[in-house]
Amino acid sequence: MKITLLDGSVKEFDKALTVKEIAENIAVSLKKATVGAVIDGNQKVASDYLVDKDCTLELVTNKQEGMYDEFISSTAAAISAYATDQVFKDAQIAEVFYNADEYEFAFTFHRDERLKLEQVSKIQDEVNKLLTTDIKIENKKVTETNDLGLNTYQLHTADEEIYKKGYAIVTTINDTYKIVSSEPICVEDKLLKEIHLQQLTGSYWLDDSKNVMLQRIHGLAATSKKELDKKEEILKDRRSRDHREINKTLEIFDFDPLIGQGLPIWLPNGTILKDTIKDYLKEKEWEYDYVQVQTPVIGTLDLYRTSGHLDHYRDDMFQPFKAGNEEFVLKPMSCPHHIAIYRSKPRSYRDLPLRYAEHALQHRYESSGSLTGLERVRAMELTDSHIFVRPDQVEEEFKSIYKLIEEVLATFHIDIDYLSFSVRDPEDKEKYYQNDEMWDRAEAELEGVLKDLNLPYKKMVGEAAFYGPKLDIQAKTAQNHEITISTIQLDFLLPEKFDLTYVDEKGQLTRPIMIHRGLIGTYERFVATLLEQTKGVLPVWLAPNQIEIIPVGGTDAEKYAEQIRQEFKKRHLRSHIDLRDERLSYKIRDAQVHKIPYQLVLGKNEIDNNTLTYRKYGSEEQTTIPANEFYDLVSKQVAEKQ
Ligand code: ATP
Ligand code: ZN
Repeated sequence: MKITLLDGSVKEFDKALTVKEIAENIAVSLKKATVGAVIDGNQKVASDYLVDKDCTLELVTNKQEGMYDEFISSTAAAISAYATDQVFKDAQIAEVFYNADEYEFAFTFHRDERLKLEQVSKIQDEVNKLLTTDIKIENKKVTETNDLGLNTYQLHTADEEIYKKGYAIVTTINDTYKIVSSEPICVEDKLLKEIHLQQLTGSYWLDDSKNVMLQRIHGLAATSKKELDKKEEILKDRRSRDHREINKTLEIFDFDPLIGQGLPIWLPNGTILKDTIKDYLKEKEWEYDYVQVQTPVIGTLDLYRTSGHLDHYRDDMFQPFKAGNEEFVLKPMSCPHHIAIYRSKPRSYRDLPLRYAEHALQHRYESSGSLTGLERVRAMELTDSHIFVRPDQVEEEFKSIYKLIEEVLATFHIDIDYLSFSVRDPEDKEKYYQNDEMWDRAEAELEGVLKDLNLPYKKMVGEAAFYGPKLDIQAKTAQNHEITISTIQLDFLLPEKFDLTYVDEKGQLTRPIMIHRGLIGTYERFVATLLEQTKGVLPVWLAPNQIEIIPVGGTDAEKYAEQIRQEFKKRHLRSHIDLRDERLSYKIRDAQVHKIPYQLVLGKNEIDNNTLTYRKYGSEEQTTIPANEFYDLVSKQVAEKQ
């Protein structure tokens, strides 16, 4: 048997050996450090797995942070599942998971009665007890699932594994408890020093809402207390940056189960924030010669049949509904509506580019499991545009769209993770709209622009939409998820489907190319990103409440405060007077907690001199200046989008 190692070297053995034996053969020191391996780049196996045929082998040792963590964590999940079985005999284990982004393991189980949090502590106690004993873990390879005595969930996993790999691994813990997992369960239980069960949630079996709801316990595993503390610290920091957490004090959005999952409510603070962003974007669109349009949130089924969305996008759309004799759908995107505007009269080459912008409400039926605060919702407002150009205008227009996006994202100080440039795979004749000449030209032009502008990008071959190449501007969320913020997508197909034309210089009917542009994506996802990147400390121009006014010293101060508030109003500055019966120090702290850019403390001294005493967010320093100077100071910051 020939084993190819990661460095390309090949080892030959005359008999089958376990991963651990192979490790020992390479170096004695490796024997201790190895917990498993990855075979042929995709099969993760524990160290007692018997390798019996030629393969490539990557040993997983305690030197490899990510992979090692996965192996240790899935083992901890199996031990925790066993502990659950010890405490609650009626819990039927379903699956074991590992989530690298969260360093977290999880396992699901079915039990008629929902566990209470204190019952999870019972499982934790059992886990702690187990960690002080020798746990016996044995893995056995099976190719048949009969007579294994597995529950229906485990049977399903075993059958899936056999279907995918030709075998499944049945792990037996302490001679009695059987568990099947697609994750490797290591026999080195002594390495595991810490297992910390963290929370209890629920998820549908196989993520399908038609199936039974399972209970899911999440946890962290580590080989030392220090490592566990480090993981917990990182997670705590991430959680504090999560926009859902930040929203608890800023009160930007809300959800109500009676309204429906994933249907966000923009609260007063959120509406101010969104409208402020919108005013700015419309001003930029004006500068770049876009025209604003507004189209209905529904369209007939025929519209989406013609556009092809019904075929390609059906699962992402809300179900069609009937009214009278007609059938409608909630629009998942505005492209066909904007096409209708283009088609409403004959167009000449002199009319192009035509840039329709719409800050458009749209609805998508995202799976309930994927809904994440404002980041992924079912009702959203896209900063959408469709631009109709002649083929010779693509390059220029792409450049100008990119410039617009870049300027806008810079105004918000958004950190771009990377640019993803998706092109077709020319070999794939099935997926892509067939017009090689058009694709070649457009791809070369877009790439030329990226090079001209000196922009680093990742080229993704075969990732283009079926209708054309695209550029996505990617960012990272606090939870380490990759998301698309802005997008520029070329489309050769929709103009054809709707038979769009313009009269060219020679009087001939010619097809335009369409460009879909999402300026900052949806307000929902953008605000989620903004909150996470600023940690909720919004700049003055965006802060829903820019100035908190705290009067001290009774009615005179309150009157003065009101007079000042009216002055702010005249200048379109947003302020609020704190009239609560609380101590000054409490009010100041509260304004800090709510991340209000300025706090004013007004008392006798200020009234007598017509001054203001202010303190900036995050600063201890107090400054007293004439009221007029303060108005100018804040107005200037707002005007300069600071
Ligand atoms: P994703 O891959 O994130 O689902 P997509 O590729 O389907 O997005 P597009 O159709 O290109 O998205 O939509 C344009 C923009 O709309 C995205 O860049 C993103 O900002 C935003 N967006 C898409 N789906 C959602 C959603 N469910 N909730 C919030 N924003 C969304
Ligand atoms: Zn579109």
